[in-house]
Amino acid sequence: MELLKERIRKDGVLKAGNVLKVDSFINHQMDIALINEIGKEFKRRFADVKIDKILTIESSGIGIAAITAQYFDCPMVFAKKSQSINLDGTMLCAKIESFTHKRVYDVIVASRFISPGENILVIDDFMANGCAAQGLCEIIESAHANVAGIGIVIEKGFQMGGKMFREKGYRVESLAIVDSMDLETNTITFREE
Ligand code: 5GP
Repeated sequence: MELLKERIRKDGVLKAGNVLKVDSFINHQMDIALINEIGKEFKRRFADVKIDKILTIESSGIGIAAITAQYFDCPMVFAKKSQSINLDGTMLCAKIESFTHKRVYDVIVASRFISPGENILVIDDFMANGCAAQGLCEIIESAHANVAGIGIVIEKGFQMGGKMFREKGYRVESLAIVDSMDLETNTITFREE
């Protein structure tokens, strides 16, 4: 998605530890016009798939998934990162190792929001090692629902997540795939599509 790549080149900031900061337009301040285009692009790429629901993870996935869900005309559910007193009934749980915070935490979805046989699209802002998406897929599959696809805004293609999912046969659509990031020269190389 050219518009997204241009914006990453212009406003993305490289940080130590293979981190790309996009907090001026996606992760903190959000450029809603851009997120709308991202939502449309996910719809275009998954136009051939019946999507009953979108699943993401709090917090940075929520805004993107909410706008994307408007284009699919379906509900959006976000996995919560900790047990909350507001969650009642049966829970679907998975453990996720955070790439940015380097710790393992539980993610939870109330089982009444994912039904057997539903086709669910996973949406997230980044794919690095694939732990976040893996946890969401585990939750979907433990509810006997189907992972219809995985839509990622920015995939870091030099990390293993995308490759691992594609090898397992999941359909992964990433709107921008970063093949390399060089902190010293401040250059980002995108994969040609
Ligand atoms: P994974 O679970 O695939 O290793 O990492 C994906 C999660 O970590 C995403 O939900 C995202 O929030 C965060 N993440 C991974 N890499 C980056 C990055 O380079 N920049 C930012 N802003 N978040 C990242």
